[in-house]
Amino acid sequence: MKIVKVKNLKKYYGKDENLVRALDGINFEVEEGEFVCVIGTSGSGKSTLLHMIGGLDRPTDGNVLINNKEILKLKDDELTIFRRREIGFVFQQFNLIPILNVYENIVLPIELDGNKIDKNHVDLVIKALGLESKIYNLPNNLSGGQQQRVAIARALATKPSIVLADEPTGNLDSKTSQDVMGLLKTMSQRFNQTIIMITHNEEISQMANRVVRIEDGKIISKAVNE
Ligand code: ADP
Ligand code: ADP
Repeated sequence: MKIVKVKNLKKYYGKDENLVRALDGINFEVEEGEFVCVIGTSGSGKSTLLHMIGGLDRPTDGNVLINNKEILKLKDDELTIFRRREIGFVFQQFNLIPILNVYENIVLPIELDGNKIDKNHVDLVIKALGLESKIYNLPNNLSGGQQQRVAIARALATKPSIVLADEPTGNLDSKTSQDVMGLLKTMSQRFNQTIIMITHNEEISQMANRVVRIEDGKIISKAVNE
């Protein structure tokens, strides 16, 4: 099943001589359970694309379908609910709450939504990410790689349809980046979790199932790895 369909997506900023075509007719689809990397140089439109797929911003033209639902037709409040329910975000900055321990950080989005915590699922995610011995730690006592694992656990805990990750390895050294990528790949296989991740790092992108290459707001190639 195609869980994400992006159709002729355009996002323009500014106008006249200041017009920037950040996205200029993007088409692509993602299978359920696929781990896709979007790669491109700085300013190529990667973040803008991720924001549109996640319903964080609205395009100039085009469509995004998630689970066959046209998300851009939703009103702002419906879009917020949709985003909380269906999307898990991971960013370069881990955005953990310093006064909450690891476990509290991981379940916070579930609690904020007023949902019941599926303890079995949360425990599975914590174990899969190797965080069992860290659940009572405060984020400041963890390494960068561990903090990013917590952020990934938090994104997975709500059982989102898709995880959107914006340069999640951007603040990590090369060894830790490889480890985090390995874990993301394991998560996608283990939980049939669809992941769309952006990076500008070639080596990192090779660990995904597929690499979508973007330049000047256009897709220039879609390559399957291995
Ligand atoms: P990337 O994530 O690949 O670095 P972005 O999606 O952030 O690229 O940006 C794509 C282009 O759109 C760049 O030229 C950037 O300067 C421009 N851009 C992004 N966001 C805005 C904005 N809010 N207002 C104006 N221009 C923007
Ligand atoms: P990233 O490192 O993810 O590519 P950026 O530093 O490009 O992020 O952008 C961070 C934020 O600033 C994004 O929300 C983006 O939309 C916005 N932005 C990027 N370029 C511009 C711009 N030229 N004018 C205004 N906002 C911008």
